[in-house]
Amino acid sequence: MEDDIRELYQEVILDHGKNPRNFRHPEDAPLEAHGNNPLCGDKLTVYVRLGDGEKIEDAAFEGKGCAISIASASMMTDIVRGKSVTEMEALFEEFHQMCMGEEEGDNAVVAAEEFADDMDKLRVLSGVKQYPMRVKCATLAWHTINAAIHGDTDTSTE
Ligand code: ZN
Repeated sequence: MEDDIRELYQEVILDHGKNPRNFRHPEDAPLEAHGNNPLCGDKLTVYVRLGDGEKIEDAAFEGKGCAISIASASMMTDIVRGKSVTEMEALFEEFHQMCMGEEEGDNAVVAAEEFADDMDKLRVLSGVKQYPMRVKCATLAWHTINAAIHGDTDTSTE
């Protein structure tokens, strides 16, 4: 195991990495996208079903990747369910800034107060800011669901 991964390993990441939530191919998920992070070799497919008001009714994924990418996809698919596309995008932006270590800056985005609990859950992944290569692992699932919703079937971190 690489040193940075070991240092990033927290109980929660380990658990999600080993037993990912929503790791399945739903029968009724009209939107999907493939996400590729060639630097690490992470490859995810994210499946989404939207309901009334662009609400995310289901989100699931399959794929292969490092523990960070799988744990992040597992948490992401849990967190976005029941949220609108706009809310998902705000969370993605705040999470991305957290991973980049930019959340304290003047231009920091803050997702709605009601999602503070979700950001607290995602905070276990914030250690990637010490390792720029790992930021792509942590954000791949979010890029991929974003692509699926906007009709891009393929997305790459490169
Ligand atoms: Zn990775």
